[in-house]
Amino acid sequence: MSIANNLLSIKNSLPDHVTLVAVSKTKPIADIMEAYDAGQRIFGENKIQEMTQKWEEMPKDIQWHMIGHVQRNKVKYMAPFVSLIHGVDSLKLLKEINKQAIKNERKICCLLQVHIAEEETKFGFDEDELLDMINHPEFKELNHVVIEGVMGMATFTEDTEQIRKEFHKLNNIFKNLKLNFESIHILSMGMSGDYKIAIEEGSTMIRVGSSIFGARNYQ
Ligand SMILES: *Cc1c(COP(=O)(O)O)cnc(C)c1O
Repeated sequence: MSIANNLLSIKNSLPDHVTLVAVSKTKPIADIMEAYDAGQRIFGENKIQEMTQKWEEMPKDIQWHMIGHVQRNKVKYMAPFVSLIHGVDSLKLLKEINKQAIKNERKICCLLQVHIAEEETKFGFDEDELLDMINHPEFKELNHVVIEGVMGMATFTEDTEQIRKEFHKLNNIFKNLKLNFESIHILSMGMSGDYKIAIEEGSTMIRVGSSIFGARNYQ
């Protein structure tokens, strides 16, 4: 199957309310152009430098999503163009994004990353930390960031019930936030291995890489 075929068969299987982010990290521009020519306009990257380079070289109607862990000192490089930052996991980071948004005379859309997996290594807020942040006085002053929703990653396991439980939990957090913030409408969860379960549990945005572009080679 070609990249275009993979893309279109996934896209055609999605309910209307689910947005597909094609995760193009590590992939060359030629591969991304194949998806672009098949109609895809939203791409996800996890390294700021790589995303910035692709942004410079590729058509300007692409929406670039930062899906990886973000280091504060690199926010400035993507601030002029990034369309959504999925992995916001601290108030400090959000303050830096707000500062860079002001410099670029724009607002930057963000998702708050929530830790739902069993694994210790995954980044993100737990529920209490999330509440602490949204009630923090400084949070309310950040007028150049728009919190559009939450993002999470399930445990890497074959146990589909475990995955379902974690996505269900994130959906509950999403619904609660929605009651408090008008701007909340995105629930980013689901990757190649688990996006079908994620959609059943309420996902509105899936991030799919290898099922579109093939396995990644990290050498
Ligand atoms: C790489 C990555 C994906 C895509 O993973 P696949 O299994 O290739 O679909 C999704 N989300 C995040 C945060 C990633 O880093």
